[in-house]
Amino acid sequence: MKITGVRTFLMQAGSPGETAWSAAGRPGSGKTGASFGSSRNWLFVKIDTDAGITGIGECSGWPRVVETAVKDLAVLLIGEDPQDIERLWQKLYVAQMGHGLTGVVGAGAITGLDMALWDIKGKALGTPVWNLLGGRVRDRIRLYGHASTPAKALSLKARGYTAVKAGGVAGTVAKVAAIRDAVGAEMDLMVDLHGPPWLTPADAIAMGRALAPFNLLFLEDPVAPDNLDAFARVRDALDLPLAAGERFATIWGARPLIERELVDVIQPDTGRFGGLSQLRKLAAMAEAHHITVAPHSGSLGPVAEFAAIHLLAAIPNALMLERVEDDWPERDTVITAPPVIEAGHALVPTAPGLGVDIDEAAVARFPSRRNVGDAAGQYEPGTEREHLYVQTRFRRSRAFEGSKP
Ligand SMILES: [Mg+2]
Repeated sequence: MKITGVRTFLMQAGSPGETAWSAAGRPGSGKTGASFGSSRNWLFVKIDTDAGITGIGECSGWPRVVETAVKDLAVLLIGEDPQDIERLWQKLYVAQMGHGLTGVVGAGAITGLDMALWDIKGKALGTPVWNLLGGRVRDRIRLYGHASTPAKALSLKARGYTAVKAGGVAGTVAKVAAIRDAVGAEMDLMVDLHGPPWLTPADAIAMGRALAPFNLLFLEDPVAPDNLDAFARVRDALDLPLAAGERFATIWGARPLIERELVDVIQPDTGRFGGLSQLRKLAAMAEAHHITVAPHSGSLGPVAEFAAIHLLAAIPNALMLERVEDDWPERDTVITAPPVIEAGHALVPTAPGLGVDIDEAAVARFPSRRNVGDAAGQYEPGTEREHLYVQTRFRRSRAFEGSKP
């Protein structure tokens, strides 16, 4: 079997404010979601072969930029046997030596291509990707949803979800208290501070201590992961499980989080980490340190979601998978069939390969616009977001506003 072509499919996945993913950053919303000002795009990749088998992948880390990288790398795959996944991964990686090697753009491009190669191998052998990764440890994957209000958390609970995550910095302690009151003690709660660069370790520690009574399953990105010594300071000060990893690419990028045991939960982004080839290695590294895996998936499209389900089906240390329920009404229209969700769990698919494909005509209905800066005036002085780049730190009182004395 030989690779005959690589095609890319770039689309805008909902306008800013139109999706649950970007609503957190809508101007005037008073929220501090990491997605503020972003226009979400998804990038899908197809690899064609002379055997008539086509593989599908997704690399939605920074999609409009990654698409260019995919096209640059594609020439290296033409004429190759798609079943030599590890060799081709190394070929694509070494080809980037002169361009910085690591990072979410280069690794993002490899992510989509690698995912498509696993899909091809599964289809060629007539078996699901999880079977290639070692076989099933479980046949359903526990999901967690996003909730910023007690009502949303209760609606997820009513649908069978057993875990929800709240996000942001402003008013978070009060928000989590209200959600815990509403859902009761048996539901797992998580908090994502989104690691903003203006949140100091001292502030993150104070927030972590204030959140401790609510029995969090984990506190995510308490500080920007760019400075792991600051992360370690938070780690040493809190008796809370910590999670991070969504901004890292490749096993070498995530290695210090694991080797220094800075996290209890590693959260690789399935759309930019480096593909299933890297994710399975990361899972093994994490397993050796008793760290569980909960892939970052909130901004990603449905193909990456399927890839995450296959990974979590096959590794022993799977914690759960992020899923933004009510993400975008058109989400399921761009694929042939959505994942089957039952009682807060995704059923592990049994079709050969990844078991998902895009509807190319449906994808074409949503042309890409841009990745950042869609909402006019959002970065102007005087807006609620100016602390992101003008002020040196967040107003500390805002983190605790609404909290009980
Ligand atoms: Mg996060």
